[in-house]
Amino acid sequence: MSTSRVRRAGLCPLLLATLTLVSGCEETVPSPDPVPDAGSTVDAGAPPGEPVPDAGSTVNAPRFEHYIRRQPYPRMVLEVDGWGGYTPTASVADRLQRGLLGLLDKESVEVRFDQAFPGKGADYAWSNEELLRLAEETGRLEVPVGTIKLHVLLVDGHSAMDTQDGKVLGLAFPWTHMVLFRKTLDTVCGKGPLPSPTCTEAELGVWVHEVGHQLGLVANGLTMVGPHQDAAHGAHDTSDRCIMYWAYEGSGILDALGRGLFGDVPNLGFDDACLADLNAVKTRP
Ligand SMILES: [Zn+2]
Repeated sequence: MSTSRVRRAGLCPLLLATLTLVSGCEETVPSPDPVPDAGSTVDAGAPPGEPVPDAGSTVNAPRFEHYIRRQPYPRMVLEVDGWGGYTPTASVADRLQRGLLGLLDKESVEVRFDQAFPGKGADYAWSNEELLRLAEETGRLEVPVGTIKLHVLLVDGHSAMDTQDGKVLGLAFPWTHMVLFRKTLDTVCGKGPLPSPTCTEAELGVWVHEVGHQLGLVANGLTMVGPHQDAAHGAHDTSDRCIMYWAYEGSGILDALGRGLFGDVPNLGFDDACLADLNAVKTRP
């Protein structure tokens, strides 16, 4: 279905806004190793030497470095599989592609919708174990040699980790799969006074936050150029003007959007400290 591609020529920086995940239950996160949002996982450190399963290479480097650097994968595809009729919002996919193309050293970045699955229903509670299993079963889009893939599930229902006060909007299973709880996001946005454009910003923010964890932020594998990790909250940024701030895993992010906090922030909402970490790997010889 919707497939769009953005190439490096002619892009402009995009701006962004953001948001993300809610949760509030980092202490109660169950195993499997994944975690609500790779941000709080203790073992999310870079697995040096992890073989890269994509297209024909087993270069000895952490996977997040392959997302950031040009070689050995000049191209990047975000494979999206949707449950319950969800597909990426076109404007969100476009801004994500353009933003990542500006941040990463890639010839192209493409959000490609692959498979659609029946929904589980609005009341269904997804466990992390089930989501990881589904991600491994469905994230099998074949891509050409020289292309690295990041896999995204859009799901209906909600996370089994949800609490009365904390709704999970996104998860990242290091280092390949991400889950976006689109139904939950729609529900959260539908209950408040937030206008739909803000909900679109929230959708983008969830993507960006989770992609950020897969890129190794904050101190989630990537070495920090300068100190900016809020260690008390896992792999998150100390600044509330960065999309990687911990509170944006909670409903606080909606407040931030309502206040226009990310309305004019370029670079997908990553602050200078996060950008410095990415650039250090991106520009390293
Ligand atoms: Zn996080």
